[in-house]
Amino acid sequence: MALGSNVGDRAAHLAHARSRLGALPGTRLVAASRVEETAPIGPIAQPPYLNQMVVLETSLSPAELLAYCLAIEAERGRERGERWGPRTLDLDIVRYGKRSVREPGLTIPHPELPNRDFWQREIAELEGKHV
Ligand code: ADP
Ligand code: MG
Repeated sequence: MALGSNVGDRAAHLAHARSRLGALPGTRLVAASRVEETAPIGPIAQPPYLNQMVVLETSLSPAELLAYCLAIEAERGRERGERWGPRTLDLDIVRYGKRSVREPGLTIPHPELPNRDFWQREIAELEGKHV
């Protein structure tokens, strides 16, 4: 799962996400990459992001996990404005084991994975340590 924040106390938003994700039913936080600062992507001028990739072990289904993610984002005051716009907390399911999911509102692997060098770098860091 990818964590991102570019509004408010970015490190605190990421810390909240790690702690809430690790406490979800049937879920354990297994590993976390370094936190990286990255330039915003897309057409909207906005502050830089802090990003982090985490590994979870979970018995939640992908759809259940997504629903919790949206709730955790809301706890940090996430407002959905324009696409690619600034956000207190963004939680994206990048991969879910080897599974592919294509449902309305949920695509796994995340379609942006091939385009985001920092996600690939963070995954490589985690795999180097834990595979
Ligand atoms: P983005 O992350 O693309 O900037 P949002 O965080 O606002 O945009 O997410 C918009 C929607 O993307 C979510 O409501 C969710 O239904 C959908 N979505 C589709 N696939 C995924 C995924 N793999 N992880 C997280 N959200 C996803
Ligand atoms: Mg998102």
